[in-house]
Amino acid sequence: MKARAVVLLGAPGAGKGTQARELSRRLSIPQISTGDILRDAVRRQTLLGLQAKAKMEAGELVPDEVVCGIVEERISQPDNEKGFILDGFPRTLAQAEFLARVLRARGQGEPQVLNLGVDRDILLKRLTGRRICTTCGEIYNIYLNPPRQDEVCDKDGTKLLRRADDNEESIRHRLAAYENETQPLIDYYRRQNLLREVDGSRPPEAVSRDVVSSLRRA
Ligand code: AMP
Repeated sequence: MKARAVVLLGAPGAGKGTQARELSRRLSIPQISTGDILRDAVRRQTLLGLQAKAKMEAGELVPDEVVCGIVEERISQPDNEKGFILDGFPRTLAQAEFLARVLRARGQGEPQVLNLGVDRDILLKRLTGRRICTTCGEIYNIYLNPPRQDEVCDKDGTKLLRRADDNEESIRHRLAAYENETQPLIDYYRRQNLLREVDGSRPPEAVSRDVVSSLRRA
């Protein structure tokens, strides 16, 4: 597979983070997750974190200028020369157009876009059951993929946490933001013939196989 920009599209809970992590390992190219970068900024209480915190906890999108700035800065780092995987970006039409301009300026051409499709009832189960290890980043689900010991990471024994925005109210807003702002990107990329659909409702290993073969075929 040659160097390229891969975009993972999908609703909150579709498995973008899980798939991006696995793909990053397989292709040895970085995963760029705007959500992770923002959460880290919130934890460290940087100016960016302070700007983003309220929006994130409410399940609303952080303004385009802020997120585009993060991505442009991250893409320009040297570890992206072989390519990169965008997880959670773009999320609006303005962000997608921005990305197209940045890629053109880098001579990198069109992104490869995979849409992870998942039904709403599965999304809700994944979001309400999600637990994260803050030490190693492993993602569990108390219904679908529970740790061996309740609420504790199998790998390093860290107590698992629920994301601040994985509560009912925020989840409702995040799904609405997805439907209003992000879903139109499916058509945007389909019209450009850049979109590939992957059924994201199956277990992660099965989805991962499809993700890799979709990219190989492209
Ligand atoms: P995620 O981890 O991708 O689910 O993102 C968590 C939260 O970070 C989102 O609900 C937004 O508040 C914010 N966020 C992440 N990526 C973006 C983006 N591309 N545009 C706007 N807000 C974002």
